[in-house]
Amino acid sequence: MILERLKNGIVIGDGGMLFELERRGYVSAGPFTPEAVIEQPEAVRQVQIDFARAGADVLQAFAYYAHEAKLKDIGMESALTRINENAVRIANEVAQEYGLIVAGNLCNTWVYDPNDPETRKETRRQFDAQIRYQIDHGVDFFIAETIEYLEEAKIALEAIRATGKPSMITLGFKRAPFTLDGVRMEDAFRQLEDAGADIVGINCFRDPERMLPLAQKVRQSVSCFVATQPVGFRCTDEKPYFQIQEHDGHIAFPTELDPFVLTRTEMASYASRAKEMGIHYIGSCCGSAPHHIRAMAEALGRSTPNSRYSPQIHLHKVIGDEQHVREKNARILCEQRYGAAHCHFLEK
Ligand SMILES: [Zn+2]
Repeated sequence: MILERLKNGIVIGDGGMLFELERRGYVSAGPFTPEAVIEQPEAVRQVQIDFARAGADVLQAFAYYAHEAKLKDIGMESALTRINENAVRIANEVAQEYGLIVAGNLCNTWVYDPNDPETRKETRRQFDAQIRYQIDHGVDFFIAETIEYLEEAKIALEAIRATGKPSMITLGFKRAPFTLDGVRMEDAFRQLEDAGADIVGINCFRDPERMLPLAQKVRQSVSCFVATQPVGFRCTDEKPYFQIQEHDGHIAFPTELDPFVLTRTEMASYASRAKEMGIHYIGSCCGSAPHHIRAMAEALGRSTPNSRYSPQIHLHKVIGDEQHVREKNARILCEQRYGAAHCHFLEK
């Protein structure tokens, strides 16, 4: 189904489940594991409803880090099956209601070590286990994400291809456009396409400004569908990924990223530029919330279930149309409408 949708036009991805649930109180920053899918399923369901109503075409099962290596860290490896099953079930219930597509989810395992061939087998075993627990509960295709080693991505791709389901492989690039095993980005994606990936692309770490230039190169290097899922946190050319932004003299990741959240207008602009670039799957990652997704969908010409609640600034009493102005203080009115730089009342 995902491939048919992509052939017919742009597919809008969802937002950053992990960070949105952390912000709402249902994920512990640090382990960042998704045990909430069995402990607080309603909280997970609500975020997926919020993304669905904001205009996402795809809901990713909230199974990020639901693999043995990470669940061991929190003493919950025995819940591996239930977490993976439930993550897909919840996404599928919401997807059915809104006519959306469910993506199973795999991510970097932290097990893969390029210097130890034994870890290849273990990585494959962990991907296979996640796939096995997810696949029977309504998965249309699988996304492998935030992978930095080309070889680990290939292992994920092989595991997905063994199921016959479509595959989307997204790699993460922090500073240099090379995989951690030293392969130039364009070559890495060509290899993934040659190995049978249906959709390739970039996700996480970088904001849209720092991701789109890379995405353009990917677009020019492969002929398959291309995806972008940038973070919703502001980065800079000097600090191109969100985990190294500094706030108040220290690293903001992961609990003080609030001042870096991009505006919905910036995310909407990203969606439009990605479309112009020929990106087929336009999504987002950490820090991106429902209001971003709705603005992106509307920028792409869609009307979403929650477009009913989109801004109607003209009805605001102070900054709306003239007939609604109720602000009695001329200076405040002027400052709110035109900003300090253009306010006629503020001393220059
Ligand atoms: Zn992310």
